[in-house]
Amino acid sequence: MFVVMKREASAEQVRGVRNAAERLGLKTKPVHGDRQVVMDLLEDGQSQSGESLGTLEGVQLLLRVSKQFKLASREFRKADTVIRLPGGVEIGGREIALIAGPCSVESLEQLLETARGVKQAGAKILRGSIFKPRTSPYDFQGIGLKGLQILEAVKEETGMLVETEVMHPDHVRQVEPFVDMLRIGSRNMHNFDLLKEAGRSEKPVILKRGLSATVNELLLAAEYILNEGNPNVVLCERGIRTFMTETRNTLDLNCVPLIKQLSHLPIIVDPSHGTGNPDLIAPLSKAGIAAGADGLMIEVHRNPKEALSDAHQQITPEKFARLVNELKPVAHAVGREL
Ligand code: PEP
Ligand code: MN
Repeated sequence: MFVVMKREASAEQVRGVRNAAERLGLKTKPVHGDRQVVMDLLEDGQSQSGESLGTLEGVQLLLRVSKQFKLASREFRKADTVIRLPGGVEIGGREIALIAGPCSVESLEQLLETARGVKQAGAKILRGSIFKPRTSPYDFQGIGLKGLQILEAVKEETGMLVETEVMHPDHVRQVEPFVDMLRIGSRNMHNFDLLKEAGRSEKPVILKRGLSATVNELLLAAEYILNEGNPNVVLCERGIRTFMTETRNTLDLNCVPLIKQLSHLPIIVDPSHGTGNPDLIAPLSKAGIAAGADGLMIEVHRNPKEALSDAHQQITPEKFARLVNELKPVAHAVGREL
């Protein structure tokens, strides 16, 4: 349960509520409110109900949340969360966010050429992994920390925002000075220490749905980040494991409008990993936008055949530019900008 204080509540009234909660055996945790003080009442086996706090001075209302996830729920926050990035770039607003770039950072030339191409096509955020969670230990594992200089140089040269994947809690502090967003990949959606560390970061986090995670589990993973104080989480549907063998994953577009009902957090769609098939990326991108996604993450490589990871699913910057043009009327049809 949350105590939402009135906008004009004094510091003394806030203190009064906190003390009264403590007398009931309840711990209070301040949460990120828009313009008013909001406290989460943490109950345990010993504590009494916080119902009586509703009558104290300065309290606007007690908010009961019926879901397992609280801070991520639409009950907690009615309005859509809009992630505000440097340079006026937003995720979750009217404009569809385009995040594009190679699966892996391979070299300065590779990233720069690809970045120039996707930027010209309209992408504002460049993706590129330096740590790669690969199924096989014999596959390319990413170029590691030396990739940070490449990301920094390309960011500087192109003016694009950049994001990269973090796999270990230590990566968060290591990459933070170089990137605008952190990404937690599918395989690490349940890496709770990583989620908590990302929750202590100043940088917005793209959280990808686990290979076999339910929507409830995805929202609870987001809750770990929010609960540590980072309010800027972008959810990402990237396909789930099903019986289908003809596509890499099954892109679960059900979850887009479902998450919009359950949560105020923005959600983007990754049709590259969701299908594993470059010919399916355009139709599934359109479908994602039509279903209400706030953005797309698409793997683009200057020469997909030579890519060190996910060579089969990456598209060229030219193909990406054609795709963006095809997406515009779809975005407009559902009241969005692109
Ligand atoms: C990625 O986006 O680079 C990636 C590895 O995707 P996922 O975590 O969805 O498999
Ligand atoms: Mn990939």
